[in-house]
Amino acid sequence: MKIMIKISIFFLIISLIVIFLVSKIVAPSQDAKMNEVIPHENYKVSNKSEKLHKSLFITDLHSDTLLWSRNPEKRWKRGHVDLPRLREGGVNMQVFSAVTKSPRGLNFDSNSPDAPDDISLLIKAQLWPPRTWNSIFERAVYQAQRLHKLESNPSNNLLIVRNKTDMEHADKKILALLLTEGSHPLEGKIENINNLYDAGYRAMGLQHFFDNKLGGSLHGKSQSGLTDFGREAVLEMERMNIMIDVAHSSINTVKDVLNTIEGPIFISHGGTISGCEKTFNRNLPDKILKEISKRGGILGIGYFDGAICDISPKGIAREIIHAISIMGENSIALGSDFDGTVTTTIDTSELSAITYQLLEQGLTEKQIRKVMGENARDFFLRNLPEI
Ligand SMILES: [Zn+2]
Repeated sequence: MKIMIKISIFFLIISLIVIFLVSKIVAPSQDAKMNEVIPHENYKVSNKSEKLHKSLFITDLHSDTLLWSRNPEKRWKRGHVDLPRLREGGVNMQVFSAVTKSPRGLNFDSNSPDAPDDISLLIKAQLWPPRTWNSIFERAVYQAQRLHKLESNPSNNLLIVRNKTDMEHADKKILALLLTEGSHPLEGKIENINNLYDAGYRAMGLQHFFDNKLGGSLHGKSQSGLTDFGREAVLEMERMNIMIDVAHSSINTVKDVLNTIEGPIFISHGGTISGCEKTFNRNLPDKILKEISKRGGILGIGYFDGAICDISPKGIAREIIHAISIMGENSIALGSDFDGTVTTTIDTSELSAITYQLLEQGLTEKQIRKVMGENARDFFLRNLPEI
């Protein structure tokens, strides 16, 4: 009996050591590897661009920071976004997206929803609560709770935007808005739209890398449009003033959404195929982008390979200018995809490098104000719930 107890204690200690090593060493090293900033010298800026940058209202439409265990209150040397770096970059508003499922072997061409899910491994390695292990819905709720915890600390000066009036606090606080990356957290239940709204979500992506119950992904197997459930879901989202993000949706899904609802839709992170042909399996054709802008929608330009060809600040600015030539200067915004398992040339503290490049490449100050944040701010002001 005594030997049995000794063996049990031995295995318990070994298990605790393994859990400690995985959560404190393996998971953070994955974070550092998957959200890399390419080492570089300080980027060139000018007095004029710095002055302009400091006067901008800056909005970023997409960051997956809540997926990672690092506490955003501290300034980190890994990853792309935390509160100190948002302040350094002059960011007024950050959209936090919740990634909840990611099929193994992720690619832009074709993924199966049945492939093993890498997020379920990551969240266990980061010691997320057991209720999130087998529920995609709970993973979205948990990420919203992480943001609420940040909001509850007054020294963070952070406000989660729930309605139009909340937008008025931008001069004092960093505004945050919650977005689901795909609507699989609904778990096939319409009432979960309301539950996620209660958790704080005011924007919902429809798909991520795989076809889901709402319809086809741009990187899925079917390339199909909205399902009956998808139609019901987008109508309910529109009814509740939840903004719809089609960043990873198939062309057929996007067309169906435009034909189903009356309001605008947006693309939180992406680019244009005409600006970089190799992004045909990540971005949408100009014809649909024009349709989205005509309906009052916006496109956030990503900073990663796959969305744009050249990921340097110069290349990001070039794609912003190209996208303006297609959708117009009122429809383009920033959509970094920071902390979205992407390699970038800047983190969020270095956004002034983009302002400098936009100025260098000939945009007017007024145009720069729009693309760096005012277009996105105005989109939210038009589409958030009144109260
Ligand atoms: Zn994404």
